[in-house]
Amino acid sequence: MEYFDYYLIHAVDDDRWTNVANPFGVYEKLIKYKEEGRIHNLGFSFHGTNSCLKQMIQEFKWDFVQIQLNYFDWIYQDAKTSYNLLHDAGIPIIVMEPVRGGALARLCPKAIQLLNDNDHQGTPASLALRFVASLDGVQTVLSRMSSKEQLEDNLRTFSDFKPLSDEEMKLVEKIRNAYLESGSIPCTECRYCQPCPKGVLIPEIFSIYNKYVQNQDIEQFRKDFFAIKEEHSPQRCIKCGKCEQICPHSIEITKKLSDIAYFASLHR
Ligand code: SF4
Ligand code: SF4
Repeated sequence: MEYFDYYLIHAVDDDRWTNVANPFGVYEKLIKYKEEGRIHNLGFSFHGTNSCLKQMIQEFKWDFVQIQLNYFDWIYQDAKTSYNLLHDAGIPIIVMEPVRGGALARLCPKAIQLLNDNDHQGTPASLALRFVASLDGVQTVLSRMSSKEQLEDNLRTFSDFKPLSDEEMKLVEKIRNAYLESGSIPCTECRYCQPCPKGVLIPEIFSIYNKYVQNQDIEQFRKDFFAIKEEHSPQRCIKCGKCEQICPHSIEITKKLSDIAYFASLHR
């Protein structure tokens, strides 16, 4: 290749930017490549705080920024502020995790009821994709897919794209509230927290619990939870905090693990 159309610095957060990329002159090096025509568009994918994002876009010139954006994190992780910072600066946005690792495709019963009551046409995943694609300044929406059906659904969503109407925006708000009230743990199973030094299978444990929140099937929960080997169980956690430092969704992992362990002990 003679040049990259889009070159992004991967997974920037406050620590990587402040202690690695910035002091070692990564931007200056890459901007030189851009001037030489070896990079056409220079950007970064971001997982840090809004204050770090603000500083990065004030101090340097970027052609795009990739952020995690979906209707749940819009409030839960204040992605709305990240979006506004980039939008106000006129920087095109690439969206990652529009369906929140699949969580917004598997809604809780109350949210599904809301969709039915509103006679909503289309899948929950397509509603999530349409939310981000309706936002001004969004250039690209990245969607992970794992089946032909999901691919077809995504193609349908974008082939005849319709931005969300005001009514649908209100519906999204209600679904977000239902999700927040459901008690689901907002884990996207990204596995950044793995491996845990004590072997705790954090995403698997959260997934078993979330499945219970969705279907309220306590027998299934017991079967799945007690199938976890002792060396991977939540009881192994020593609260070292390593996982919480790295979790891109700021989940209180140690607290959730101990809550789930307690919940399981009640249903042994
Ligand atoms: S806090 Fe617990 S679960 Fe998290 S990395 Fe440490 S031991 Fe593992
Ligand atoms: S890092 Fe956070 S979101 Fe990712 S799997 Fe671990 S707990 Fe879940």
